[in-house]
Amino acid sequence: MGERRGGTAIVIGASIAGLCAARVLSDRVDHVTVIERDRITGAHIPRRSVPQGRHGHVLLAAGHQRLRRWFPGITGDLEAAGAVRYGTEEVVFHQAGGYRMRPALGYRGVSMTRPLLEETIRGRLLRGYMNVSVTDEVAVDGLIVEDGRVAGVRTDGAVYRADLVVACTGRNTRFLDQLEPAGFTAPDVSTVRIDIAYGTRTVRLGSGRTDPRIVLVVDNPRAGHRMGTVVPVEDGRAIVTLAGFHGDVPPTDADGFHAFARSLPSPAIADLLAGTEPLGPVLTHRMPTSQRRRMELLKRHPAGFVVLGDAICSFNPVYGQGMSVAALQAQELGRAVDRHGLRSSRLPAAFYRRAARVVEVPWRIAAAADFADPRTSGAKPPGTDLLNRYLDHVLRACHTSPRVAGQLLQVQNLVAHPRSLATPVMAARVFTAARDSPAGTCPAPVTHDSTA
Ligand SMILES: Cc1cc2nc3c(=O)[nH]c(=O)nc-3n(C[C@H](O)[C@H](O)[C@H](O)COP(=O)(O)OP(=O)(O)OC[C@H]3O[C@@H](n4cnc5c(N)ncnc54)[C@H](O)[C@@H]3O)c2cc1C
Repeated sequence: MGERRGGTAIVIGASIAGLCAARVLSDRVDHVTVIERDRITGAHIPRRSVPQGRHGHVLLAAGHQRLRRWFPGITGDLEAAGAVRYGTEEVVFHQAGGYRMRPALGYRGVSMTRPLLEETIRGRLLRGYMNVSVTDEVAVDGLIVEDGRVAGVRTDGAVYRADLVVACTGRNTRFLDQLEPAGFTAPDVSTVRIDIAYGTRTVRLGSGRTDPRIVLVVDNPRAGHRMGTVVPVEDGRAIVTLAGFHGDVPPTDADGFHAFARSLPSPAIADLLAGTEPLGPVLTHRMPTSQRRRMELLKRHPAGFVVLGDAICSFNPVYGQGMSVAALQAQELGRAVDRHGLRSSRLPAAFYRRAARVVEVPWRIAAAADFADPRTSGAKPPGTDLLNRYLDHVLRACHTSPRVAGQLLQVQNLVAHPRSLATPVMAARVFTAARDSPAGTCPAPVTHDSTA
């Protein structure tokens, strides 16, 4: 934790990135003002400007760890509000023609609706940190730029001044464009065209279904490339999401939705759906591209201003990375402030270098999986095809080796580096286990140490 050195900060946007940034800055500045254009009601319902909040949101272990450090006991708060705890052995994952082994890694995740998570973080922030305030129903219209630095923000009728402004305004942030007249060029944007379509339905689990299972089914990306997930949430409900790529859109009528689920290579989701009560319509969401603003490549930044969260990198949502990467970026903002100080002209570049390192691994993980589909186009990281050839072996090894399955889960949860899958010992394990891969029934949970 940094030492509070005085000064003030404005965070634009009270979504996950904004709340994490505010938490980090609360340790370091006298006052943090969060400005949010939506009305914040305190109810666990999706907000207008965060339409993705209606869809399932998986919190990866990396993000969960970060939140637990910033808000000790937050998992208990979430659970008390209805969130569902689960062990890694309860994650049923079908990919590459078979079910992955289900190792118990000792880590227990927490599954809930996105609004519950956001509200819980916001509640903890406001109760625990008196130097943070959230002003809702106020949209920031523009930045105040003076002498090459951002000195505050302008809203309809008011001016707020601060030493640092952090824009956590999501994928379509406009604030970087506003800096161009002041001589700051816009960043290059790397995109990966996936044209993903979500169809999501919240259901009540059947009376016989109380186990908190997370189910993921991924079709062969070279032939079909559909997928589905089920995440348990509050009040005995589950969020079922089906997804298609490159124009393959899950139907919104009940029969079509069920048929799409039935087309997946495992019956796990279709069978589960059959015993549930729908609690609303099938909701859709489309995202044409994953996109990454290459802030770290810019030569000049105005002092007093950074963007953070989806504004830097908006991932293909199926990998569940966005919230956790936003939290990791916020952590790096804190470190950059500790090193350079709030008002330093070096702060933005230093933060963007750190944020780029945070983004690089999940971006590559997502890109590798996306480019396994030959229809995907765009910024393909070097080495992706080679990586994917190895990953084919890893995925098949997960069908028989709890160790490989456990390691892959840790990599996908951003708590282990991908190179941990390629050590000589692990590679030997991968190639041996991949040879034994059967396409078969869902394996029972296993402890991590058991075999292979
Ligand atoms: C369909 C879908 C599913 C997803 N699933 C997952 C998942 O399973 N796991 C995961 O980790 N991530 C997931 N994500 C990504 C995740 O939602 C984001 O990464 C996360 O919300 C962090 O984004 P953010 O805070 O940077 O921006 P956003 O969530 O987009 O929030 C931006 C905020 O800024 C506010 N704002 C914008 N402009 C202004 C302004 N001018 N003045 C004031 N306020 C303003 C908005 O009202 C909003 O509150 C998913 C995304 C989608 C689209």
